[in-house]
Amino acid sequence: MDAFKYTNGLLCCDGHSITDIANQFGTPTYVYSARAFREFYGALRDAFAALNPRICYSIKSCHNVHILQTLLECGSSFDAVSIGEVRRALEAGANAADIVFAGVGKTPDEIKAAVELGVGTFNAESAMELDVIASVANKARKNVRAALRINPDVDAKTHPHTTTGKDENKFGIEIGSSRALFQKHKDDAFLSLVGIHLHIGSPVNTVEPYVEMVTKALELVDQLKTDGLTIDSINIGGGFGIEYGHQASASAADYAKAIVPLLQDSGFKVSLEPGRSISANAGILVSRVVYLKQSRTKQFVIIDGAMTDLIRPALYDAYHFAWPVVPKDGMTPTDRSPAFRIEGATPVDIVGPVCESSDYLGRNRFIPPVKQGDLIAVFSAGAYGAVMSSQYNSRNRAAEVLVDENGPRLIRRRETFDDMMACEREV
Ligand SMILES: *Cc1c(COP(=O)(O)O)cnc(C)c1O
Repeated sequence: MDAFKYTNGLLCCDGHSITDIANQFGTPTYVYSARAFREFYGALRDAFAALNPRICYSIKSCHNVHILQTLLECGSSFDAVSIGEVRRALEAGANAADIVFAGVGKTPDEIKAAVELGVGTFNAESAMELDVIASVANKARKNVRAALRINPDVDAKTHPHTTTGKDENKFGIEIGSSRALFQKHKDDAFLSLVGIHLHIGSPVNTVEPYVEMVTKALELVDQLKTDGLTIDSINIGGGFGIEYGHQASASAADYAKAIVPLLQDSGFKVSLEPGRSISANAGILVSRVVYLKQSRTKQFVIIDGAMTDLIRPALYDAYHFAWPVVPKDGMTPTDRSPAFRIEGATPVDIVGPVCESSDYLGRNRFIPPVKQGDLIAVFSAGAYGAVMSSQYNSRNRAAEVLVDENGPRLIRRRETFDDMMACEREV
């Protein structure tokens, strides 16, 4: 299902030359494959088919409205973490009822707007937030569904910045305190607190943390039952790992094999909130080599893409495979692991122009020799790439191109200097 493949020594996205795309739309540019989005979505849907789950694509992983449309056509629902994301889903054509609204700090204004728009489910994360949701629902005289996000105190064994299900993380409510909250809201006139929400981090590359968290959630449901309360749905969040190339991850089928049996006969409506596992390997970042430079100890390949386009290496020391779009002498990669290298090559750091030493996209890479003007692809960049980009150093955000049956098309034009200045001029 790999959308980005070398054919005759040249990187292509579903058969379309990346060189042609870069020449047409400029660099740096994100290139996405619609087919890959559909296939990664389909892989999860098929793996979990026995639960017939509602799949709520996590908008924050890659939020371009054209991509949301692609997923909507697959039957996707959506997971939003701000009112802006709720509005994006609506703009893509989603029904408000098919949006779940999560987030630890939804403001009262956001909650009010979401209630008015008819958002399907609120994933609430604190006692105070539940009070606000209940009061907004009362005032609007609108029925609102909510789930309580439980913090199961499970170690997702991922980067400290991206683990969310441990006691010390800000997310959710500890299981011990949750019973009282369900009890407190059981007679609310307009708020139905009838679901459990979980999301323990990202990427979670193994199945065990999911098994542990679902087991704990089911114990809670039993306790709530003895309290006379009914839970009708469970949302197990996202966080499924992908193959970046440097470490193994469970597959959609592996996760399903471990999770499905726990929930199959539970009678719950089950939801998933996958982001990365759908978007990460559906996109690459394409940049052009600006300069080469040799220091006493290092060789640098300076490209026009930067941490402002893809911050994951700077932020999490994340690994992304990088390789020339047209490698010299046809040296095309056979895998994306750090071990795949050109023997005898001098290792290079692939860096951007931003004034930070953390502005790199790859370090100590044994890539084929490149020259000024060559293109370099950074792989697995579809998730938490474009969405995390910034204008630091007054850089315009990159263009985004989607390749579908009709070929490549621009789905976000490159920002201009006037775009950047608009908010400062219009004051
Ligand atoms: C970010 C997030 C997700 C998606 O996580 P991925 O690792 O991209 O699958 C799901 N649910 C919630 C509540 C999130 O905040």
